[in-house]
Amino acid sequence: MRILVISDIHANLVALEAVLADAKAYEAVWCLGDLVGYGPNPNECVERVRGLKNLTCLVGNHDKAVLGELDVNTFNQDAKTAILWTRDTLTPDNFKYLQSLQPLAYQDEFTLVHASPRQPIWEYILNLQIARDNFPHFHTRYCLVGHTHVPVVYYEVDTNGECVEAAADYEHPVTFNSHRLIINPGSVGQPRDSNPDAAYAFLDFYTLVWEYRRIPYDIAATQNRMRAAHLPDRLVLRIAYGW
Ligand code: ZN
Repeated sequence: MRILVISDIHANLVALEAVLADAKAYEAVWCLGDLVGYGPNPNECVERVRGLKNLTCLVGNHDKAVLGELDVNTFNQDAKTAILWTRDTLTPDNFKYLQSLQPLAYQDEFTLVHASPRQPIWEYILNLQIARDNFPHFHTRYCLVGHTHVPVVYYEVDTNGECVEAAADYEHPVTFNSHRLIINPGSVGQPRDSNPDAAYAFLDFYTLVWEYRRIPYDIAATQNRMRAAHLPDRLVLRIAYGW
């Protein structure tokens, strides 16, 4: 079973449509949260995602802030401006859909979580030490996370919790072995690894082959929509740099 793994769409419909067009055939979709926030098309993105077949969808911290379930003052000014704009823009039906989502789910040997198994909404797994600290907090073999917007795999290499890190390899799919792993597919709508192309991944649920994908999309089109919505300039600029 081929699973499309996406995360951190952030209301970037142009990037999402490019990913879905590139992905073509898949039997299920796992979406790790942050459907909205930052970008110009929150309703269109929520509607597109919720229409996907065999969907498991999580809620992220930006989604929760839009819902009023997290304090917007804990976000930086630009993020807060976009969250408040999104709150005013989202239809009641899409608002209700986001309210129905959880930050954590399980699929057989996979834990799916937006941020980290230790703190499903907030914690950024940004380095080996934080990854190491998180391995004891999930009990499946593998854990998929989003939130940092950086594609990466952390391998637990011994029972003392020692970890190593591998950057995304777009040329060579990897087959998961007996190591426990924390895996981030990267961000569809606002990548932060100095590569502006939309990031996503495929997982073969039975053979455990993981394939990172990176595809260009029409960034200027998203930027034009952001300017038309009067979203903050820094948010408009950053998607062109992958930051
Ligand atoms: Zn995010």
